[in-house]
Amino acid sequence: MLRIGLTGGIGSGKSIVAKIFETFGIPVYYADDAAKKLMNTDAGLKASIMEHFGEAAYENGELNRKYLASVVFSNKEKLELLNSLTHPVTIRDAGEWMQKQNAPYIIKEAALLFESGAEAHLDKVIGVYAPQELRVKRVMKRDGISAEEVMKRISRQMDEEKKMKKCAHVIINNEQELVIPQVLNLHRLFTAGQ
Ligand code: ATP
Repeated sequence: MLRIGLTGGIGSGKSIVAKIFETFGIPVYYADDAAKKLMNTDAGLKASIMEHFGEAAYENGELNRKYLASVVFSNKEKLELLNSLTHPVTIRDAGEWMQKQNAPYIIKEAALLFESGAEAHLDKVIGVYAPQELRVKRVMKRDGISAEEVMKRISRQMDEEKKMKKCAHVIINNEQELVIPQVLNLHRLFTAGQ
């Protein structure tokens, strides 16, 4: 069973592309959602987050998102520290999930696929590309935040051109090219084991 990664910058349209693969019956692991869940359910991860970020990181056993966000989003080292705790646990969880799947291939969708080292556990990576201007517009609309805030989030991620160069396949989601035929082409390829 092929293990395919799916990545792209914020607002590129990874989630939408992942949903199209799902409509073709392909199982998708959403790494960002899984990481958020694991921060509340994995005892070892909870303990290490508390060790590094203090007891205030949890409130009545539940992750205190507001507190943690206020700490990591103004401090790059702290964000990297949090990621270094979360990523290995998510990679392990994704591996366990993959073993339970029965499909010609599976998709793992993650914003920080290369940054987290998850790439090493995958056979191929698809990138979703959209021009920065469009990504900013989409995220402003989706999350109700300013262009400045979106740009801040973009600046924390790997350079988009560099990211796409690392991908075996790139889906263009610029609202001019049709997306579904691009996904279908890849689906045919992966179903044939290529
Ligand atoms: P993030 O990294 O923030 O999770 P993402 O890469 O998963 O972002 P999506 O959530 O799939 O991106 O898309 C961002 C927003 O842009 C969503 O509101 C989505 O509906 C919209 N969008 C994405 N692609 C298109 C498109 N081709 N046409 C119109 N809207 C689109």
